[in-house]
Amino acid sequence: MIQQKLREKAKELLAKKEVDLVIGFSDWTLPLRTTPVFIRTPEGAERLVWNSFCENNLAAYLHKFSRLKVGLVVKGCDARSVIALNLEKRFPNHPPLLIGVVCQRLVDRKKVKKAVKGEILHAVEQGDLLLVKGENFEVSLKRDDFLYSSCRSCIHRTPHQAHILIGDPVEEVSLVEAHPDVDEFERKSSEERWKFFEKETSRCLRCYACREACPMCYCGECFVDNSRPKWIEKSLSPSDLAFYHIVRAYHQTGRCSGCGACERACPMDIRLTYLTQKLNQEVKDLYGFETGIQPEAAPPLSTFDPEDHQEFIK
Ligand code: SF4
Ligand code: SF4
Ligand code: SF4
Repeated sequence: MIQQKLREKAKELLAKKEVDLVIGFSDWTLPLRTTPVFIRTPEGAERLVWNSFCENNLAAYLHKFSRLKVGLVVKGCDARSVIALNLEKRFPNHPPLLIGVVCQRLVDRKKVKKAVKGEILHAVEQGDLLLVKGENFEVSLKRDDFLYSSCRSCIHRTPHQAHILIGDPVEEVSLVEAHPDVDEFERKSSEERWKFFEKETSRCLRCYACREACPMCYCGECFVDNSRPKWIEKSLSPSDLAFYHIVRAYHQTGRCSGCGACERACPMDIRLTYLTQKLNQEVKDLYGFETGIQPEAAPPLSTFDPEDHQEFIK
């Protein structure tokens, strides 16, 4: 069983002092959720869990533990984020040891909540089913009907880049032809796209939970906080919201692994991945580049070739 193997491997790494810390997932008090856990002793490894609710991209924590030898539990997308961070020279002291788990795709808890009447008090996975209980109901749901959009369109579930792989590699296929939200966005006219973008961003509180959840947002000072020069006001005006969301998406172009952690962190249920995944798709079509797949290849927007066309800046 994957969870047992994960615990054994973490225990061994900590006992042999190959790592100082293992970052993984643990059970939490709320159903359909797990929480990140930071384990420093071999005995602590018993707290690790693995299921379809392990939704954080734990690579986001690496910036806080740069002086330690970290063993990081990664899914396919998380491993790709680590490769992208490595290319950006984020691990000068100790590159993390990646404990890869073949991902079974994640369950979207909001979709599950919509499918039942009443508050969910308990939920467990049993094979392909989700057994969900509340005060007056008990239902069994087909797990694959409740997956995140980013997971339905994911093809890189096996963290091939990991130092240790738990689970058998799976075929590189998605459940759908295209990311459902990107597909919907692409079918709109330019005016409809802008309206959609404005409608989504109008709910934004600028709480920056999306930024905090993302491993690729690690600048010491984010452009939204910078006062010299001041790029953006602190307001919730449509232009400031548009500016934040457009710049954020462009900063992620060719760096985003499509993990969906930003969207899951948003308290306002604002759709974010249609934009980052649309830009990723453009980068793939134009340059054949995908984040974290080619370990040595720099993202196209981070490189410069003197032979590049540059008439437009003359
Ligand atoms: S994007 Fe892929 S690897 Fe990441 S959680 Fe979803 S299915 Fe798993
Ligand atoms: S998490 Fe949501 S509300 Fe907060 S800044 Fe990001 S998009 Fe806006
Ligand atoms: S922008 Fe969102 S989807 Fe992309 S790497 Fe960051 S958290 Fe993951």
